[in-house]
Amino acid sequence: MQCAKVIETLPAYLDNALELGRSVELERHVETCAECRRELEQSRELKRNISTAAYHRAPDSLRLAIAKNLAREQAQPVAEPSPVKRTIFRPAAAGFGLAASMTLAFMLGWALKPAASGADTELLDAHLRSLQGEHLTDVASSDRHTVKPWFNGKLEFAPAVADYDAQGFTLKGGRLDYLNSRPACVLVYQRRRHIINVFIQPVADAEFSHASRNGFNIQTFQKNGLNYWLVSDLNPQELAELGQLLNTAK
Ligand SMILES: [Zn+2]
Repeated sequence: MQCAKVIETLPAYLDNALELGRSVELERHVETCAECRRELEQSRELKRNISTAAYHRAPDSLRLAIAKNLAREQAQPVAEPSPVKRTIFRPAAAGFGLAASMTLAFMLGWALKPAASGADTELLDAHLRSLQGEHLTDVASSDRHTVKPWFNGKLEFAPAVADYDAQGFTLKGGRLDYLNSRPACVLVYQRRRHIINVFIQPVADAEFSHASRNGFNIQTFQKNGLNYWLVSDLNPQELAELGQLLNTAK
């Protein structure tokens, strides 16, 4: 048996998948060939390490997954209305206090509600999914006359669709998504390089809070029996600007 043939059949030999005659030939060769013997020993050692590593790695990854879940659980905001309100308007509140920002909240018609557990995680997940995949928009158009009819027949409600390009929020298109296992209309806007997903769904039991998480801001309001959620890495002040535009649109 030639050295090259030995090297080629080493994996099969180590897997006990080589026919007996070949195995005998191989063993006879490595007895006399130091180079192939070294190859065999190294391969055997590598195989042993891989199986040992695989055995030990599994509990590690499990531990990591559990730690991640725990961190996620602990990151859930406590359902206390006043800190939530403060968190949302704090960056905008450079010049005015909490009372003033609450007045602003009323003026904007924000429906401030305590966090429903896990709900804004679902929003953020949907937002991130839209950024990662190829599925940001089902209908890509800045023309509201193209975007609005696209939702016809796909939803049991018909949200107003508008472009706010003049105000710096460019309509990118629309998408059908799911929140709480119910279909939701998503309007996608862009501000500079920031994508903003506006999730719209009929008001039901779903109650999401204003929240800031992992650098993403979520704001919500209710209008004409619909819930609107704005999700973006855009700063809260500018996100509230779009919220106001959507909220005051006819
Ligand atoms: Zn050899």
